[in-house]
Amino acid sequence: MYQDKGQCSEPISEVKSLITEIQGSGECESRTKVKKQSSRSTKKLADKTRPYSWGLRNYVQLGVFLVTIAIGIHFFIYVHQAAGEGAITVSRPAGVEGFLPIGALMGWKLFLLTGIWDPIHPAAMVILGFAAVISFALRKSFCGWFCPVGTLSEWLWKLGRKILGKNYRLPLWLDYPLRSLKYLLLAFFVWTIFSMSRLAILAFLSSPYYKMSDVKMLFFFTQMSGTTGVVLVILVLASLIIRNFWCRYLCPYGALMGLFSLLSPTRVQRNPETCIDCKLCSEVCPYHLTVDRKLRIVSPECNGCMDCTLVCPVRDTLELKTIGMGKSIWSAARLGLVIIVLYIGLVYSATIVGHWKSSVSTDEFRLRLQEIHLSKYTHP
Ligand code: SF4
Ligand code: SF4
Repeated sequence: MYQDKGQCSEPISEVKSLITEIQGSGECESRTKVKKQSSRSTKKLADKTRPYSWGLRNYVQLGVFLVTIAIGIHFFIYVHQAAGEGAITVSRPAGVEGFLPIGALMGWKLFLLTGIWDPIHPAAMVILGFAAVISFALRKSFCGWFCPVGTLSEWLWKLGRKILGKNYRLPLWLDYPLRSLKYLLLAFFVWTIFSMSRLAILAFLSSPYYKMSDVKMLFFFTQMSGTTGVVLVILVLASLIIRNFWCRYLCPYGALMGLFSLLSPTRVQRNPETCIDCKLCSEVCPYHLTVDRKLRIVSPECNGCMDCTLVCPVRDTLELKTIGMGKSIWSAARLGLVIIVLYIGLVYSATIVGHWKSSVSTDEFRLRLQEIHLSKYTHP
């Protein structure tokens, strides 16, 4: 493993003033001078940047993360009340279904084949649909802006950097094969689902297991086995050391979003005419993409975080652009606003058309919860 230095998330005022200062002389001469001085100063400047300063994206991530925690607590209370004999004063929160992506994929296959919207965990399909739409339209921005697991992953490597003073990168001979793991996992799930007939999918989606799969997921954490605990600790430790360990190597959901983003008309573009080769964009990229060497970033790893565009010291040199729109329209504020408005709009629309709340009644849920230890609730 080798050290991973230089991380920043804000425009660097030092480089900007350097450019302003030099722009007094002739254009060609000034650019050469900026390149030379900037290259000499890059390391020093990168050290001066504030790697843990928060931008708007981080506040969006924090908001989504807190809402996710609130949904988790809400669900815990619901299950706790349903397990008792008293009144149930809260409803089953639909947002928890965002953690059921396999069922959501099956639901989408069923919907595309038959027009039937899964009534058991309908919100799972809405959330997967939302993730796919923004990943197609705005790179893999679901991962960079919204996903609470991605947020936790980012917090962990930033914390690790604070504790250890640096993050590490795996050597390329290990990094490449490990990065394929998430695609292999995705391929396994997609192949399994595509090989299922519509009857098999209907049977799965109406099975006792699937009806209680959100509770099974809750028990996965509240009644954690020793093995699960050990695996989680290993993941946390690896995430402290390596940037976005889970997202980079293991997350099949992110792999799917990356594939959608390959078709995206939006991408980071660099203007080589004005670029001063300071390399700050590459240093700041959480996925170690060589932004300073590319004209445009088409990698499925790019999560649309915009950190590279924010750190670039030369105006209009590195921008997130959508094909056919000429000048860039994407600032972090606009991107964040579009993502949040789209999510709220989709949830509201799904609620109106009855595709958000599960059809499993509270009485049925309560009965099933009492027998959840039976074999019919094991994974079919
Ligand atoms: S290329 Fe830029 S937008 Fe894409 S992940 Fe790297 S820093 Fe974020
Ligand atoms: S595109 Fe990258 S290398 Fe070029 S000036 Fe901007 S930050 Fe520096």
